[in-house]
Amino acid sequence: MALMITDECINCDVCEPECPNGAIYQGQEIYEIDSSLCTECVGHFSKPQCQQVCPIDCIPFDPDMRETKEQLHEKYLRITAAK
Ligand code: SF4
Ligand code: SF4
Repeated sequence: MALMITDECINCDVCEPECPNGAIYQGQEIYEIDSSLCTECVGHFSKPQCQQVCPIDCIPFDPDMRETKEQLHEKYLRITAAK
């Protein structure tokens, strides 16, 4: 399950540099997450790093992006191989 940023985001810039996959970017109005690059931090960390640092807890799991740990690990391997 990838994560998503809600419109409560205050553009504090804290999460973007923490993402090991470069999945977080500045969108039109708030920061956004590219779900094709978000692995829930699987492969890098035990917990989603963006959630850890967001001061207002506006980065929930995206209910429309359900993925198993195995699928997330495969995504991690694809991203790593592409780098
Ligand atoms: S959960 Fe991890 S991979 Fe996904 S956006 Fe947050 S920091 Fe990046
Ligand atoms: S840490 Fe939270 S509030 Fe700050 S830019 Fe990221 S999503 Fe927005």
